Amino acid sequence: MTEKADKTEQEWRAELSPEQYRVLREHGTERAFSGAYWDAKEPGVYRCAGCGAELFRSETKYDSGTGWPSFYEPAAAEAVETERDWSLLVPRTEVHCAACGGHLGHVFDDGPRPTGLRYCINSAALELDPAGS
Ligand code: FE
Repeated sequence: MTEKADKTEQEWRAELSPEQYRVLREHGTERAFSGAYWDAKEPGVYRCAGCGAELFRSETKYDSGTGWPSFYEPAAAEAVETERDWSLLVPRTEVHCAACGGHLGHVFDDGPRPTGLRYCINSAALELDPAGS
């Protein structure tokens, strides 16, 4: 773990926008079709809005029709971690940043090839680092 993980909630609150804080630190979910990246097609790297860790790449982003940025795999297997989420009647698999623990979204098994996975991620948890910048 990096020192980022040791930030207090007060420090996170000071550093993040209210929406970023709600998603990353309080497991919030942005409204569908409301975020900055659900329809983004620019090439680049999607970094954690909390700590800057490289999480997803534009090459694996696809249009899931859900209104949230969707990827079929993380940039690296160790970039994200998952945890069972029992907050709804149907259990889901929560996805968070391995470096800072920030909540990103959920992963479902109805994604496209080659992985069959759908990482359904909140735009507020991401920051696009455009290719070539
Ligand atoms: Fe992070």
